Amino acid sequence: MKISGLTFSELKKWVTAELGMKPYRAQQLFTWIHLKRVISFHQMTDISLSARNRLDRVGEITVLDTCDKITADDGTVKYSFTLEDGEVIESVLIPDPPRLTACISTQAGCKCGCTFCQTGRGGFRRDLRTDEIVAQLYGLQNSTNDRISNVVFMGMGEPMDNFPALSDALAIISDDRGICIGARKITVSTVGIPDGIGRLAQLDGQYGLAVSLHSAVESTRRKLVPVSKTLPLQELKRDLIDYANRKGRRITLEYCLIAGINDTLEEADALVKFTGDIECKINLLVYNPIEGAPYRRPDIESVNRFMNYLYPRCQAVILRRSRGSDIAAACGQLGPAARSTSST
Ligand code: SF4
Repeated sequence: MKISGLTFSELKKWVTAELGMKPYRAQQLFTWIHLKRVISFHQMTDISLSARNRLDRVGEITVLDTCDKITADDGTVKYSFTLEDGEVIESVLIPDPPRLTACISTQAGCKCGCTFCQTGRGGFRRDLRTDEIVAQLYGLQNSTNDRISNVVFMGMGEPMDNFPALSDALAIISDDRGICIGARKITVSTVGIPDGIGRLAQLDGQYGLAVSLHSAVESTRRKLVPVSKTLPLQELKRDLIDYANRKGRRITLEYCLIAGINDTLEEADALVKFTGDIECKINLLVYNPIEGAPYRRPDIESVNRFMNYLYPRCQAVILRRSRGSDIAAACGQLGPAARSTSST
C-alpha cells in the first residue's frame, strides 16, 4: 500500500481495519510522513519495532528520484523526477520573497493538446497517483531550507483530468497535521473541462482557481486549446461565476499573448466583454517559444497596446514576469525534451 497517498481518514481506516492497530497510529504515521517527511518506517521512533517491521512489510512511502535539477538566472529551479516505471515528470520551485511557490505536475504528459504547450505536444502517458503528486512537493521542500508557502497545480498535465488523485493530494497537503499549506495558498490551474471547476467547487477548501483562457474568441481559443470545444466560453463563464460566488474568491485568468494570434485589439475587446461580470484578475504572460511550435513572441509594442486597451476597462490586469524561461521552466515549457528558443 502506497500509504503516503492516503488522506488522514483513509489512513485511519487502513490502520484500524486492515492492520488492526489502534486509531492513534494513524496520527503518528501521518505526522511522520507528512510533517517530518521521513522516508522509512524505521525512522518512526515512537512506534514499536514490531509495528514498524509490520508497516515496512505492507506499506510504502513514496520518494521520487531527482534525475535533474537546473537553476535559472532568476533563481527558479526546475526538477526532473523519475517515477518507478521510468516516466519523467517536472516540478518547479519559484522564489519570489516572501513567497516560495512550488509548481506541481498531475500527469505524465497531457491529453489536452494545447498547441502552444510543450507538454501538450508530447502527448499523454499516464495519470500520476496521489502519492506521486505529494512526493513532488516533499522533494522540493526537502531541497530547500525555506518553507514552501504556496503551491500551484500548473505543471505537466490537466489537474481536473486526474481529479480523484488531485482532490486527495489537496486534502493531504492542506491537512494541518502535515505540511499544512493552507487552501487559500493553493491554486489549481485548468484549461476548463466539463465538470472540472464544479467538482473543485464542491471540495471544502477555498482553493484558488486559475483558468488558462488565452482567448475570449471561441475560434481562436479552439485553435490554441482544442479541448475547449467540450466547454464553450459561455459555459465556462457560468462555471467561473459560480466558483467565485461559492468560494468568495477572485478567479485568475491566464492569458498568454502570442503574436498575431490573440494579441489584437479585437481579441482585447472580446476579453473585456467576457470578463465584465466575472470576479477576476487577468494575468498576461508573453509567449515563451518552444521548438517546433508555429507561434511567435509578440513585440513590446503589441504587448503595450493590448495592456493599454485592458487597463481602463478591466478590474485587474497584471503583466506577469515569466519565470525560469532560460531553463524551459516557464508556463507551457515543461515536458520531454523541452527547450527554450529564447529567453526573457
Ligand atoms: S497547457 Fe496545460 S492543459 Fe494544455 S496541454 Fe499544456 S499541460 Fe495540458
